[in-house]
Amino acid sequence: MNSLKSYIQDVPNFPKEGIHFKDITSLLQSPEGVAECLELLLSQLLTKKVDKVVAIEARGFFFGMLLAQALKVPFIPVRKSGKLPRKVVSQSYDLEYGSDVLEMHKDAIQKGDKVLIHDDVLATGGTAEAVCKMIESAGGQIVQCNFIMKIDFLQGVKKIAAHPVFAAVSY
Ligand code: AMP
Repeated sequence: MNSLKSYIQDVPNFPKEGIHFKDITSLLQSPEGVAECLELLLSQLLTKKVDKVVAIEARGFFFGMLLAQALKVPFIPVRKSGKLPRKVVSQSYDLEYGSDVLEMHKDAIQKGDKVLIHDDVLATGGTAEAVCKMIESAGGQIVQCNFIMKIDFLQGVKKIAAHPVFAAVSY
């Protein structure tokens, strides 16, 4: 058992009634917590070759960038539609109500790139699934999807079961 949960705060009914928001800003305020989390995520990659780290807006960027820097590989941001300035590839995905679109620069992934996908939370898995599809459509190979935490009852792992999944903590 690691001590990461002590840095993550559960905020009931945010951003709306019935959602228990997992707040990582308290983790980010702790250099010890950040080091522990980064070390845990890296420990699962020792035998894997990673060419690029792809991280998901916005809370995926914090550790996504740290992972890319530690692995000495490029960092690639996936953003909500309309935020990236050059030519993009897009992937839509379903939300509870309606749908949304994620985008990545078209030249970010080359055929055969071995890609690590990172986000802060794996909940229903819809977001991570969309990013997996986007990477594979661009010709990339997914080495692992990793997360600071996963929320097990939402069964997000099922949506990305074709790929190795690691979460530093599970709820
Ligand atoms: P999902 O597509 O349902 O797996 O949701 C994952 C995305 O939504 C991630 O980018 C998270 O940042 C965010 N998210 C979902 N549920 C939570 C939660 N309970 N607390 C914090 N962030 C969440």
